[in-house]
Amino acid sequence: MKPIKHRPKVRRWKEETSQGEAWCYSVYCQCGQEFDEHYAKQLADNDRLRHLSEVAPPPAERCRDPKRHRCQPHDRCPVCADQLPLPGFEGLEATV
Ligand SMILES: [Zn+2]
Ligand SMILES: [Zn+2]
Repeated sequence: MKPIKHRPKVRRWKEETSQGEAWCYSVYCQCGQEFDEHYAKQLADNDRLRHLSEVAPPPAERCRDPKRHRCQPHDRCPVCADQLPLPGFEGLEATV
């Protein structure tokens, strides 16, 4: 199975409110997760960052060289994940 890549983005649209037109913001991600709508972009941006931290794989599986592997730092990178643990990192999982 191909791993899902998370690329949450903030989208915005105009909505009629009792105060007139207002911008609405919400995050969408191709994983299909639903996010709340906000009138403040900052809040939507918080959702985006929270989602990224929620979906990030264990540090050992994250890409250590995102530019070269064409990954994002929060992606599980097949190249990096299959490498042996760095010296000093062995057995870390057992303590979790
Ligand atoms: Zn996602
Ligand atoms: Zn990598």
